[in-house]
Amino acid sequence: ELRTWQAGLREQFPIIVGNPGTAYLDSAATAQKPQAVLDAVISYLTSENANAGRGTYPWANRTTALVEEAGQRVRGFLGDPDPDRSGVHFVSGTTEGLRLIARDWLTRHLRAGDEIIVPAADHQANALPWREAADQSAREGVPVRIVELPYDAAHDYDHRALPSLVTDRTRFIAVTHVHHVYGGDMNIHRIRAAAGPDVVICLDAAQGVGHLPLSVADLDVDFVVFSGHKAMALPGTGAIWAANRRGARFAPGGWAGTPNTSGIVSLAAALDWLDKAGVERIARWTVALGARLTDALARLPAYEVLGCQRSLAVDSPVQQRHGIVTFRHRRIGSNDLGFILAAEGFLVRADGHCQAEKGEKTASVRVSVHAYNTIEEIDRLVELLTRLDAEG
Ligand code: PMP
Repeated sequence: ELRTWQAGLREQFPIIVGNPGTAYLDSAATAQKPQAVLDAVISYLTSENANAGRGTYPWANRTTALVEEAGQRVRGFLGDPDPDRSGVHFVSGTTEGLRLIARDWLTRHLRAGDEIIVPAADHQANALPWREAADQSAREGVPVRIVELPYDAAHDYDHRALPSLVTDRTRFIAVTHVHHVYGGDMNIHRIRAAAGPDVVICLDAAQGVGHLPLSVADLDVDFVVFSGHKAMALPGTGAIWAANRRGARFAPGGWAGTPNTSGIVSLAAALDWLDKAGVERIARWTVALGARLTDALARLPAYEVLGCQRSLAVDSPVQQRHGIVTFRHRRIGSNDLGFILAAEGFLVRADGHCQAEKGEKTASVRVSVHAYNTIEEIDRLVELLTRLDAEG
């Protein structure tokens, strides 16, 4: 049943259908776009393209309405319980979104002696801006303390250590929904439970949106930032969602500049597409593909799967890979392995994956899948990796 559903989805991606010899396995970097997203952009640009938030003629009004509708679409997709209250601000991606929150919100809200909790080895985009904000505050005479949130042995956040890190000076915690190297769901419920009701939690949802259900009501977070392009929208798209409670109100210049209107149109279309495809089912599919690859690698002595101490029994949430499996060959360097795989049509990421300074020190190969990938692609990849098992 899941296979038939998936075949129906796959045929909606022109770049996938048009390249049958290629297995695109780098969706954590950016996702491919379904025809419906391309159609929405072409339709917008060929029928009513204008600037937003200004103008009195129909195309301009329609563009303004489309941007506002896209904001509602983001709220709906994130399960926003209070859409009249929250704010949505479109950005170019997660990096820009987190940076804006750090620069335009956090620095204005910190008082001397405040503490912010920041993960030790998330994506750099979720590390550097907070450190820069703390440095800027210090320069302005407002010293704040950065408290590092460590990982546990399973590469989840160290939820046992967290309660002792939260004090009555803690104002803000930055966390990630799904880890971009280990692929685990980082258990955000437990972050809120340890933080208590007053701390602002900012979620980097770059690898979560479109991959598994994400409800702001359920997770009780205050900022969510994600990249539209990883959720099947055009490059240069993303959004900040702000709850407008606990002081998490993000009000940058309104219509002060020209927004990326066609990108925003693509984002609304992509979220529609994901909703129709069913994020719950996408999660089941990509977890299954990830488990298949991890299980196979665990049987091949030459490979080490990062964040996985033993053969993957999909028994604890963090051992489930949400479409991301990262590994090394014990003898073939990861960059070389990346080239070997690319030559055979497997497009993967091979490097250090932008991890912050406490992250993995040596390069690795990351396979990341989305709704359009198939079991056959994983099996063909495993065949090749099996042949390489004895080499190097
Ligand atoms: N956070 C995480 C967890 C990511 O995986 C990425 C993208 N690799 C980013 C942030 C940055 O996203 P973008 O490049 O779209 O700004």
